[in-house]
Amino acid sequence: MIISFHADADPRQIQAVRTKLESASSKLHLEQLTGTERVVLAAIGDASRVQELGLEGMPGVDHVIPIGSPYKLASRDVAKDNQHSVVNVGDVSIGANNFCLIAGPCTIENREQALADAAAVADAGASMLRGGVFKPRTSPFSFQGLGVAGLQILAEMRDQTGLPIVSELTEISYTEQVAEVVDVIQVGARNMQNYALLQAVGKTGRPVLLKRGLSSTLDELLMAADYILKEGNSEVILCERGIRTFENATRFTLDIAAVPYLKEHSHLPVIVDPSHAPGNRNLVPALSAAAAAAGADGIIVEVTKEPENALCDGPQQVYASKFPQLVEKVRAHAALEGKKIS
Ligand code: PEP
Ligand code: MN
Repeated sequence: MIISFHADADPRQIQAVRTKLESASSKLHLEQLTGTERVVLAAIGDASRVQELGLEGMPGVDHVIPIGSPYKLASRDVAKDNQHSVVNVGDVSIGANNFCLIAGPCTIENREQALADAAAVADAGASMLRGGVFKPRTSPFSFQGLGVAGLQILAEMRDQTGLPIVSELTEISYTEQVAEVVDVIQVGARNMQNYALLQAVGKTGRPVLLKRGLSSTLDELLMAADYILKEGNSEVILCERGIRTFENATRFTLDIAAVPYLKEHSHLPVIVDPSHAPGNRNLVPALSAAAAAAGADGIIVEVTKEPENALCDGPQQVYASKFPQLVEKVRAHAALEGKKIS
């Protein structure tokens, strides 16, 4: 951590900062550099408590510049031997040489639709199933999902196919009910910075799929992951799902660079949502292939038999009849990266 003082900071103000740092940790070494115009203080060593001190607000302080990453537990630095983590969900592994193909409808609308979609994607080789029952809709007048009644349908989808289920939790009050049924709890883009929800899913110990917020930086995503990891839950999967940019030809802009960046800076597995980013099914196969080619550990893709009748996200859902083709395309690109669909 570097503390840079204003040019007119007086020696008592600098001493007050030194005293505060010294009282925070005996393991900190302070190195003071006195230039012609200003003083700079480097705090070297155990900086874990320095962030809490509020040095930025002290008289005389101009900037406080952290040197290490702002995220801790999600950082690659804390991984044993710098290794990437693997999240296991039943027989399915996410990470290492596995490519996890999560597929299913955007939303569980009724039992018949959900079971038909589950069977179709399972037949085509999906590793896990998706389906929302608590839907975070932009308008309160849009279909909000079946809620608790949909959980029973998710359980039937798993019974019928033998595949694990990913589904979103939007409210803390449903945490236990959702954790009882689903194998992976999704925290959606709109809730990436809902810190109480992150802590709640952290406490369940269930694997968590954490989506990047619509306007969140990658460092913010990793700090959100820290909230879950801090609760002792190490089973976190990161998901790039497109961000807001000036481009409006697509619904969001898929930030493909997020994949290698997150892989370089974090030990957590990284997957891509190629559906919500473009909002257009014609672009989904190319973005799925791009995700695999960029080294992602999987994708979560929306697939349904009759997207034209869907109550949510119809235009981006891939026809179940076309899904086998997408699987083959992704399989080939994943293979080039040394990964096999798990
Ligand atoms: C979803 O996966 O159903 C969803 C709503 O995604 P996002 O949170 O990325 O918008
Ligand atoms: Mn959707």
